Amino acid sequence: MDLGIKGKKALVCASSKGLGRGCAEALAAEGVDLVLNARTAETLEATAAEIRAKYGVTVTTVAADIASAEGQAAVIETAKNVDILVNNAGGPPAGKWTDWDREDFIAALDANMLAPIALMKALLPQMMDKGWGRVVNITSRSVKAPIAALGLSNSARAGLTGYVAGTARQVAPKGVTINNLLPGNHDTDRIRGMDKKMSAAQGVPVEEYTAARVAQNPTGRDGTAEEFGAACAFLCSQHAGYIVGQNILLDGGMLNATL
Ligand code: NAP
Repeated sequence: MDLGIKGKKALVCASSKGLGRGCAEALAAEGVDLVLNARTAETLEATAAEIRAKYGVTVTTVAADIASAEGQAAVIETAKNVDILVNNAGGPPAGKWTDWDREDFIAALDANMLAPIALMKALLPQMMDKGWGRVVNITSRSVKAPIAALGLSNSARAGLTGYVAGTARQVAPKGVTINNLLPGNHDTDRIRGMDKKMSAAQGVPVEEYTAARVAQNPTGRDGTAEEFGAACAFLCSQHAGYIVGQNILLDGGMLNATL
């Protein structure tokens, strides 16, 4: 299917690896020029070079912390005329509800709620002026079903979800859609790191821990960054103009719910 977005320009935040990179690659495969962002310049440049070579699109990079005001300003300056915005950042650390203080919540809110809101506030107006735009926020399955160890994520992402629910309906009349993609377990550095920590805490080998976790999923596996990127690219396509303010769960059927 031709997604009809060849020649558009997208900003994909936190995209040198994992789900962000999956989204960037799926958009590049459709002929979308990219602004990529991550904190580590070396990894970011390597990803940008691979995407340029593979898809022949223009890729600009901004090495910056998207959770910081300076990082957001640098990214916005480079990406001020984008048609597509994919919001993403690293996830907050795991822990227990008794561990977290105000500073921990502020850090989680900065990365996973206030950064995407700042980018939307900066970039939505020019999309609305053009009469076309797409925003996809990478959130988490924790929005639908809380993950006990990820209370910081549960909290910050719920805040972003509320903001999107109201804002998406206000920008839709101008041809701009905002939706959230909720990853369940996907095979990235993040999930591998979490498996390492959780298996160590339980005193079991990491392979054993991962195999038991994956066996609980109806598909019997983790999702891939490529599958995630394909869903993102569709939400950014010409065909998705009537999908507004939705929270789309990509979890292999792990959440056992009828609706
Ligand atoms: P990942 O594999 O660890 O990749 C994270 C990417 O984001 C890297 O490119 C990293 O590069 C960049 N990044 C991290 N913090 C950043 C920041 N403050 N500013 C700019 N770039 C930043 O993670 P992932 O699995 O793709 O996860 C992406 C998001 O989805 C996270 O918020 C995660 O919590 C959420 N999520 C993931 C899963 C899953 O199963 N994978 C499930 C639910 C939710 P640098 O480190 O160089 O900055």
